[in-house]
Amino acid sequence: MLYFCVVQTKPIITVKDLQKSYGDFHAVKGISFEVYNGEIFGLLGPNGAGKTTTLEIIETLREKSGGTVIVDGLNIDSQANDIKQIIGVQLQAAGYYPSLSLTELLELFAGLYNMPINTLEMLSRVGLEDKAKAKFKELSGGQKQRFSIATTLINKPKIIFLDEPTTGLDPQARRNLWDLIREVKAMGTTVVITTHYMDEAEQLCDRVAVMEGGKVIALDTPDTLIDNLVASGFERKKEVKKANLEDVFLSLTGQEWRDE
Ligand code: ATP
Repeated sequence: MLYFCVVQTKPIITVKDLQKSYGDFHAVKGISFEVYNGEIFGLLGPNGAGKTTTLEIIETLREKSGGTVIVDGLNIDSQANDIKQIIGVQLQAAGYYPSLSLTELLELFAGLYNMPINTLEMLSRVGLEDKAKAKFKELSGGQKQRFSIATTLINKPKIIFLDEPTTGLDPQARRNLWDLIREVKAMGTTVVITTHYMDEAEQLCDRVAVMEGGKVIALDTPDTLIDNLVASGFERKKEVKKANLEDVFLSLTGQEWRDE
């Protein structure tokens, strides 16, 4: 008798042959991938690879030129409004009214979603309970990112999308954000994230799609991608030490929510 190991691979997002052209420039060239329910899925790639374009099409914020996108059984062509109800999207910093406090901003967003929330509980989930009266512009880079993650969670989404959430943050603030993203995953929320940082993808993502020139050139778990490279005979030029300069920095300065 044959036994099969059943891996939890139920797709919550299915992208098939997705294409996007800006005039005669093909930014996304027929890509296909699935995001599994409950995972942290990373879109990696150099500047201009097509990550943001892909993300914003799935978020229903940009029109595609071709292909199919299904989000939790909903087709982006005919059910974009239903998709908006079940996803959380980070606003750009400019989207936060400068004169409102964090509490007022959360209440405003909750009102837009018609979703009652406990603002203090929401802020404490992202380590900002003592900033309830502060304005967005008064926050540090890490605090701004944590607040914007809180805003993605207001409508209790099934999926959140984070576009380079740790760019420009110091190592401790990045790790705080990774912990927060892991907590979001632990609550059962699927996370789709773009990043330039390979260490971030390696530590955080269950699976990654590597994009280049509008195509997906690799898709797997970070471990499998690395193991395949090693199996192909690849060797690092320099012997890897057990710690790096970032570890030194963190052991000198690191503590919880240090990015105050
Ligand atoms: P980055 O990491 O720099 O954000 P990315 O992988 O997210 O890059 P996109 O922002 O998706 O890349 O851009 C993909 C390509 O499409 C780039 O060459 C970009 O210049 C082009 N592009 C993006 N938006 C537009 C637009 N509105 N009009 C014309 N070209 C665009």
